[in-house]
Amino acid sequence: MTANLLDFDLEGLAALCESLGEKRFRATQLFRWIHQRGASDFEQMSDLAKSLRGKLQGAARIEGLPVITQHESADGTIKWLFDVGAGNAVETVFIPEDDRGTLCISSQAGCAVGCRFCSTGHQGFARNLTTGEIIAQLWFAEHFLRKHLGTAERVISNVVMMGMGEPLQNYSALVPALRTMLDDHGYGLSRRRVTVSTSGVVPMMDRLAQECPVALAVSLHAPSDPLREHLVPLNRKYPLAELMQACTRYLAYAPRDFITFEYCMLDGVNDQPEHARALIALVREQGVSCKLNLIPFNPFPASGLTRSPQKQVQAFARLLNEAGIVTTIRKTRGDDIDAACGQLAGDVQDRTRVGDRIAQQRTVMLTPVSGNATAPEGRP
Ligand code: SAH
Ligand code: SF4
Repeated sequence: MTANLLDFDLEGLAALCESLGEKRFRATQLFRWIHQRGASDFEQMSDLAKSLRGKLQGAARIEGLPVITQHESADGTIKWLFDVGAGNAVETVFIPEDDRGTLCISSQAGCAVGCRFCSTGHQGFARNLTTGEIIAQLWFAEHFLRKHLGTAERVISNVVMMGMGEPLQNYSALVPALRTMLDDHGYGLSRRRVTVSTSGVVPMMDRLAQECPVALAVSLHAPSDPLREHLVPLNRKYPLAELMQACTRYLAYAPRDFITFEYCMLDGVNDQPEHARALIALVREQGVSCKLNLIPFNPFPASGLTRSPQKQVQAFARLLNEAGIVTTIRKTRGDDIDAACGQLAGDVQDRTRVGDRIAQQRTVMLTPVSGNATAPEGRP
């Protein structure tokens, strides 16, 4: 099997080039062709010597993920379902806003953490994605969108690792993917604009701080250990006090001077004034510099949970803001195509429900449906 060049960050590609008897700087040219121009064919790479192109043809390939479906929401959100083999699929969501374009990327097929309110968690764990499968989501989306929107400019300005999976339980594949996002010869995203969201894998938070400190979001969801254990089973292994200390340690290396805490609002479970007060006490006690992002729960039948009423969410936010903790309520996007947080796995498993909804959406099926999604060709 030839090497898929999407699996390598620039350093890895340089090592590969050396193993082919080529100078390291060739890797930079190659990397730019792949990530900045979206090339998937070595023949296109006109400034690479013919001899090198020949070697690459024999030893390597640039292979994206097959697209199963693409749905575009009325609000411009686009969701792709990618085939990762053996009946597994992962989802990627593009969320356009006035001042940015955010891509929400998956890190695993399924997830082993098993949070109660998350449909990916309910689905169970299938496998880790490779670096190539993580970066293929960005590679495809960026170059697809440029073509779709008719622009040569960069479209995706922010990446959030908030799709399916726990990124810090797939650390070794994650880091080269992050490095490719950050690399000036790759996607050139600043550390502040790449966010890893974690349910709190404490040792890996420390490693990320040392090895690739990007912006960090921590999925908190509860202000006390018993409740958090119930919602996020990983809390048994890394309880709140440890998690908070890890956040403080991370801040010394983070590109932003705060951690974003995510808090999914579940009706009658974690959305009462007493939870707000406990949360304020927790943050004060631990002295973590943070912002709080309240996420309206996106319900799915198997969870047995319901979304907090908007009034309850606003009251919760008010208490926190009054206590000096900057709190925002996340706007749900792509609701009509099940692209909102935690809904990502739903339609993989329950296609009939999606089938009903698709009738009301603008649905674009890429042809060939099972063919490989190669990014549109770049121009020199
Ligand atoms: N595993 C990582 C990243 C993926 S989940 C993590 O847990 O942080 C991304 C965010 O979506 C997390 O904050 C998660 O708690 C939230 N989420 C999961 N299911 C949700 C749902 N049904 N409704 C709203 N948010 C949800
Ligand atoms: Fe996994 Fe995150 Fe879902 Fe929890 S919320 S099950 S950690 S993907």
